[in-house]
Amino acid sequence: MSELARESSAYVLDCRDFRETSQLLVLLSEKSGRIDAVARGSRKAKGPGLDRFSKVFVVWRPSRTGGLVTLSRWELEETYPSLRTSYLAYLLASVWAESIVALTAAAGEEEEVYRLTSDFFCTFQQEKVVVLSTLKHVRLFWKLLESVGYAGSWRECAICKTRKSLNWFSFSVMAPLCDQCAFGENDVYPVSSTFVRIMGEDKTEGWRGDATLWIEAFFHLYGEIIGRITERSLPSLELLKKTLAQRKSRVPFRVARDPRET
Ligand SMILES: [Zn+2]
Repeated sequence: MSELARESSAYVLDCRDFRETSQLLVLLSEKSGRIDAVARGSRKAKGPGLDRFSKVFVVWRPSRTGGLVTLSRWELEETYPSLRTSYLAYLLASVWAESIVALTAAAGEEEEVYRLTSDFFCTFQQEKVVVLSTLKHVRLFWKLLESVGYAGSWRECAICKTRKSLNWFSFSVMAPLCDQCAFGENDVYPVSSTFVRIMGEDKTEGWRGDATLWIEAFFHLYGEIIGRITERSLPSLELLKKTLAQRKSRVPFRVARDPRET
């Protein structure tokens, strides 16, 4: 007896050519979590093909072994063209996709991860992308870690629950600690109070300072966390960190200036 066909919206996390005319896809579906799928003949089809970071509607029959499934139908729902015109935006999306692949097991029910991914890609729906004027992405990355159970909230000390003097991130509990609780711990990373405040707020508007530094600081910490949890590094994250560092040096009024330059 064959299983009933399933259908769902899904994000293409990864996509590679397969044989002459097909593609192998890693999908994050709304209803069935991560799916490894083959789209047979997809490269023969006319019009825009299936690509990374597209949103698609797919129909498939679950495989009995839980492995690769064959899509019987697919339709593009959204292609996020602005993602493809900004290098930074594309890098950011790559880090998102690689994070999900690294953090979630195949075929898990990951409703929250899907919802966060939807929030993440929605930010690229506008024509123009102003990726680094908002800290929204950074908070979404943190929520992703929280939703898969790997990290704690920035609102309080993970041990004593105080909201004061949260100046440390502990890699042993994967959450912020206050001065007192961090005392004597050796696997801690110092974080500034501004960073903690930014991470603990829900509002993305109202931040008036230069976010670039904090975003860079965030991705250093994020890379360290991902490395410890998954024992791998995300190739796009290294590129993103490099790009952020270069960008910072192109904004001279943000860094201490040599007075002789003026
Ligand atoms: Zn504490």
